[in-house]
Amino acid sequence: MSMNKQEFSAESFIVAPVRDLPKSGIREFFDLVAGRTDVISLGVGEPDFTTPWNIRESAIYSLEAGHTSYTSNAGLPSLRNGICDYLGKYYNVEYSPQSECLVTIGVSEALDLAMRALINPGDEVIYTTPCFVSYPAEVLMARGVPVPLVTKDCDNFSVDPAELRKLITPKSKVLLLNFPCNPTGAVASEATLQEIAQIAIEHNLIVITDEIYSELVYDDCKHVSIASLPGMKERTIFLHGFSKAFAMTGFRIGYVCGPKAIMDAMYKIHQYSIMCAPITAQEAALEALKSARKDMLMMRDSYWERRNIIVRGLRSAGLDCVMPQGAFYSFPSIKCTNMTSREFAEGLLKEESVAVVPGSAFGPGGEGYVRACYATAEEQIIIALDHIKRFVERHSK
Ligand code: PMP
Repeated sequence: MSMNKQEFSAESFIVAPVRDLPKSGIREFFDLVAGRTDVISLGVGEPDFTTPWNIRESAIYSLEAGHTSYTSNAGLPSLRNGICDYLGKYYNVEYSPQSECLVTIGVSEALDLAMRALINPGDEVIYTTPCFVSYPAEVLMARGVPVPLVTKDCDNFSVDPAELRKLITPKSKVLLLNFPCNPTGAVASEATLQEIAQIAIEHNLIVITDEIYSELVYDDCKHVSIASLPGMKERTIFLHGFSKAFAMTGFRIGYVCGPKAIMDAMYKIHQYSIMCAPITAQEAALEALKSARKDMLMMRDSYWERRNIIVRGLRSAGLDCVMPQGAFYSFPSIKCTNMTSREFAEGLLKEESVAVVPGSAFGPGGEGYVRACYATAEEQIIIALDHIKRFVERHSK
């Protein structure tokens, strides 16, 4: 008997939103850098500090003491208590450790949980951009519709509330914010956040706020969480973690706090798909909250110094650059070269062995800029700036 055999195609089994998802522009660019030892990298978005010793020691101790089991799904009660105390003290927002706090595998998992818990197919998620590469991808994987709200250098890459209003439709459900911002370093002022909060309340939006860089703010800038504003806690999902401020990217540990009903939904997804964050990382995170504030402030001061050096250097190289108020990224305009951001980044790598990330990798609004991370040794930054200056001089029209 002859069967009408179809040619097997593994690709045909893949769901459309994943099949159609482009690969991260950052990763693609770093494939070009991989294997080259002569490159000064202002590319990667992570601290150049090793995790402070107290934190590493507590992880070592945790293993030595044989703490190798699962924890409760929501995370160690002691860690959840520590997180909620920390948020009460520094963010002016009170959460219940029992019902409003979940420990996750970094902000990455928390973001994924939030999208999966909230998005029905076709729901619109307004997100500020240029942004962290995962935002639109996460919305698409949840079958939502990402709606970019482009922030501009003339507004210091903060949100223009009038632009936000224009994007709202009956399908708008979520507003996703990230201040301080990757890749622009922008911080939103309290007045701007108040206007955004007003719009969210008026239009019944849920706000997801990714505050992963919130300890890293500079000068007289004060970080304000939108969750702390009147009427907002009940409609805000607060994401934070230990990766950036405590230099713990490899521990993969973060958390999410929010209204109980939504936390219950996120908890279910977390319970079935993750179970719990690793106990070693959880115990290390608790130690970070207990004893690493001084280390964190020292790292912040060091980023501040390097921010001043890089921005001064970029400007003297002829590039316009908004002064970043937070995180550890500068986002200079490269428009004076008449190159695309990709041409600029590839040219700089090829001709001057300096790696930066093309702004186009960060979505709409990113073209015309590059991201230069200053969480790199000061001497390296100084050499890189020299090379950038040479490159810009050669290519400015
Ligand atoms: N949010 C932003 C804005 C980020 O820049 C990053 C990491 N680059 C993350 C979330 C992911 O952080 P985590 O290590 O906590 O998963």
